[in-house]
Amino acid sequence: MKKTLNPKVISVLEDKIQLIKTEKGAIYLVGPIRLPVNLYGETVVFKWYCWLNCDEATEDYQIIIDKLSSVNLAELQQSSVLAYGDFEYGEDAILRFHSICHTGDIFGSKRCDCGFQLKQSMKMIVDHGMGALFYLANHEGRGIGLFSKAMAYILQENGYDTVEANEALGFVDDSRNYGDAILVLKALRSKPVTLITNNPKKLQALKNAGLEVSGRESIWGDISEYNEKYLKTKINKSGHINDEGTCCND
Ligand SMILES: [Zn+2]
Repeated sequence: MKKTLNPKVISVLEDKIQLIKTEKGAIYLVGPIRLPVNLYGETVVFKWYCWLNCDEATEDYQIIIDKLSSVNLAELQQSSVLAYGDFEYGEDAILRFHSICHTGDIFGSKRCDCGFQLKQSMKMIVDHGMGALFYLANHEGRGIGLFSKAMAYILQENGYDTVEANEALGFVDDSRNYGDAILVLKALRSKPVTLITNNPKKLQALKNAGLEVSGRESIWGDISEYNEKYLKTKINKSGHINDEGTCCND
């Protein structure tokens, strides 16, 4: 027997759930939720959204809520958005599509520049006055997953560069897909955005999806002996734009 949810619970939640239809079903976007964040020692209040992909597209949210306790979501990762200022309607917003990096974002690993890029892009958004950071949870290791990334790191310790290591394990170098994130972005905002990225492929993915991109801001930093080779590979093999030699000179 299904337990019927308290109608008050449904009415509180349904105001904050948005249904976005996809080819395979739907994305359920919840938020905004007030999220005070410690950013470099200062408290900044963001508006947080989270989304979930589902095969079923229904506006009867009771059906979706009923499923949550049985689908073991903690075993999976969900993507989310940190928005700041008038991201939905403001004229000039900046945007970061950040790929999850367990080692860089959480542990502060210096093998890559992800942890720096995460915090720095949040700061850029706040300094700019409006914008959003999309935290893309299915992008670990450029889409190969954490366990495969661990094996790729072992290969890198044996002379492979990041691209060669992914390819040696049978993956394409970059298998990230931005489709869902773009659908969510479109649900939140219709005006052009300035993209924070060094990666022209991200810029192209957004443009291909029909979004108006008004500009690009680069984001380099935290360069050290530990990630210099990784950053050089991004520039020389993956086509990242090394603005005025801001990254590594070679
Ligand atoms: Zn990383």
